[in-house]
Amino acid sequence: MSLPRLRTVLDTMPSYQPSEGVYTSEGGLRLLSANESPYQPLPGITEAIARAGATVNRYPDPGCTALTRALAQVHGIAEERIVIGAGSVALLQTLFQTIAEPGAEVVHAWPSFELYPVLAGLAGVTSTPVPLVDGAHDLRTMADRITPHTRMVIVCNPNNPTGTAVTPDELGRFIARVPPTCLVALDEAYYEYVRSSPATTGLAYGAAHPNVVVLRTFSKAYGLAGLRIGYLVGDARVVRTLRKVGLAYAVSTVAQQAAVEALALQAQLMRHVDSTVEERTRVHDALVRDGWTVPASQANFLWLPLGEDAAAFGRWCTRQGIAVRPFPGEGVRVTIGSAEDNDAFLTAAGTWRTTRFSAVNGQERAGQGTVEK
Ligand SMILES: *Cc1c(COP(=O)(O)O)cnc(C)c1O
Repeated sequence: MSLPRLRTVLDTMPSYQPSEGVYTSEGGLRLLSANESPYQPLPGITEAIARAGATVNRYPDPGCTALTRALAQVHGIAEERIVIGAGSVALLQTLFQTIAEPGAEVVHAWPSFELYPVLAGLAGVTSTPVPLVDGAHDLRTMADRITPHTRMVIVCNPNNPTGTAVTPDELGRFIARVPPTCLVALDEAYYEYVRSSPATTGLAYGAAHPNVVVLRTFSKAYGLAGLRIGYLVGDARVVRTLRKVGLAYAVSTVAQQAAVEALALQAQLMRHVDSTVEERTRVHDALVRDGWTVPASQANFLWLPLGEDAAAFGRWCTRQGIAVRPFPGEGVRVTIGSAEDNDAFLTAAGTWRTTRFSAVNGQERAGQGTVEK
């Protein structure tokens, strides 16, 4: 019997694979694979969630009024410039659906957020990946790759998975080169972890650049990954169109009210972020002392450019009880978690190195895979 006929593009598209064991094992894995906050929600947030929970026989406010107002205040911008989504990933999907005309193209860096090419493929948009240089966006080449068909360029800043950030000057020069008819989507999922000064944000691009949109999320620094809520800031006219495309009622009451409360508790949550940033420095320096190559990161994760060893190191970590994110052939991304989880990772990484490398002049041993068996 033949199967229903589905879009052929789906045959070639990979299914999303969460890191091994994260949702299937009996627990016990240290979760350093998804760049989540290691902090459980503050009491004020669990209380807001409980209050909202008592109303879920009703549909949510489709305009996300209270949250939009709170965000407008926090950023000092007009409410009409903000759209809320069920995670910034949903807003990325909305962006793709908004630009997807036959022949449309998108330019983004690679490796970067794994979902960009997937969402492009789903929307029928041709993706033009531009290789990173030393783990960082090559903005000049990205601008060169824009054609008359390019409807959007995405800059993931800081970049997932490498953690590098672009400078305000680099970004300014890039945006000046993008035609005003092409959207510039600045994915700032990790903005709160940036400590290079001055931190670059697309929010500084206002009226003069109606093609610039900025994506932010409550999933990382605000610790609400499980609730699925993020937002986009852009020109009011662009935002009005995006609101037409996104599904109404997609953002639950629970998520909306928890996000409002998270903004009220911002000062406390940013202290959590400060601690994560301190841990990032500690783990980075310890790895470098041990001989690892680790680019400086501006996000809540570190990137180990292990190339062909990436998959094996990922499996090694799983067997040590630590979930990390391997990008086969490229590297491994490890989230900065609690101090205890980070110590466990450092121990696992140290054992891998001593097992794999001979003490003699750092040469790799033959039979390098032995640590796996
Ligand atoms: C984690 C992440 C997001 C956030 O996705 P949500 O849907 O808001 O949870 C967006 N972009 C990048 C690059 C990310 O790493």
